[in-house]
Amino acid sequence: MLIVQKYGGTSVGDLERIASVARKVAAARDAGHQVVVVLSAMSGETDKLLQMAHTMVAHPDEREIDMLLSTGERVTIALLAMKLIEMGYPARSFTGRQVGILTDSAHTRARIERISAERIRASLDAGEIPVVAGFQGIDEKSDVTTLGRGGSDTTAVALAAALKADACEIYTDVEGVYTTDPNLVPHARRLKKISYDEMLEMASLGAKVLHSRSVEFAKKYLVPVRVLSSFKDAPGTLVTKEDAEMEQVVVSAVTYNKNEARVTLMGVPDRPGIAARIFGPIAEARIVVDMIIQNISDGGLTDLSFTLSRSDLIPAMEIIRKTAREIGEREVKVHEHIAKVSIVGVGMRSHSGVAARMFETLAREGINIMMISTSEIKISCVMEAKYTELAVRVLHDAFGLGEEPGAVSEE
Ligand code: ASP
Ligand code: MG
Repeated sequence: MLIVQKYGGTSVGDLERIASVARKVAAARDAGHQVVVVLSAMSGETDKLLQMAHTMVAHPDEREIDMLLSTGERVTIALLAMKLIEMGYPARSFTGRQVGILTDSAHTRARIERISAERIRASLDAGEIPVVAGFQGIDEKSDVTTLGRGGSDTTAVALAAALKADACEIYTDVEGVYTTDPNLVPHARRLKKISYDEMLEMASLGAKVLHSRSVEFAKKYLVPVRVLSSFKDAPGTLVTKEDAEMEQVVVSAVTYNKNEARVTLMGVPDRPGIAARIFGPIAEARIVVDMIIQNISDGGLTDLSFTLSRSDLIPAMEIIRKTAREIGEREVKVHEHIAKVSIVGVGMRSHSGVAARMFETLAREGINIMMISTSEIKISCVMEAKYTELAVRVLHDAFGLGEEPGAVSEE
């Protein structure tokens, strides 16, 4: 088998852990597999580099940020490759440029456009273990780009797709994908498998296990992805195609995201073209807007609210204030302490009353819902951030997601 193995930051957090990754890679090799390794930077390293940039200057240039951040992964790939070589396994480290990961030019959040995997293929053919720097690529000008925080997952899945690998294993510090964050709900359960669509919703809703672009790649190229613990020998969670069994379950998981903010534009003229004027420039700046709600207009004016990632708030507000002046609306309000709590499940397609049950459950706890949005397989509610833990806990129970007391795991 050809296996792509990705190890996250905590799995390569110090030299000892890198040595233990080397032993895991070697074991897969000894079992007769071809292995391509993708690594993150040591845990905390990317944050440290970013902090340095922001201490150096107030608004670091994004091209230079990418140049800086791409160094983190260089450290781990070289260390792992030299360890493998010492252990008698031919290995070679490669940067994003060296393996031909071509991206667009959106620095700090680039998207992979093409992978010319010849170099890796040649390395595999030569009997080597290629060790690839995650999270980075180059654009058409040969400038270094990065794929957004957590982007090493995407490198791994994209490589697995390009190489038509038999498996893509994502090794991390948790044991798989859970029904919700086990830090909030101790009896949260590990899922044996989950569909691409559910994982995609969960990733974009704030579950941090997998980078959402990586799930898009997996879905598009049908790459089976297994999320596993680096530290414990356990089966993990398989992210795969939907099957009939999955549809029996109405809700598979509860997720939350506390990193959003809500912006409200008061007194917006209610006429064609205004929403395009407001959101066009935001999209051009590649800022992702999440929920959008517009009220019924009153006297030709309306209020328009939307949510976005809090980290995008400053650049977004610059753009919005400018547009606001141009279209002459009255006031812009920001609410920074909101959270979005969501339930996800492909079973929602075939079961009714799911939304009502969610709203009733929240109402019983006196939690006020500020915004609601739905898709075929998820329902999200925005609320005051202080209710997050409570909401997650009661929803997890209301949809019967917890481990049955005394239940024995089948595996
Ligand atoms: N090192 C990068 C980050 O911390 C990419 C990754 O680990 O996936 O976001
Ligand atoms: Mg990660």
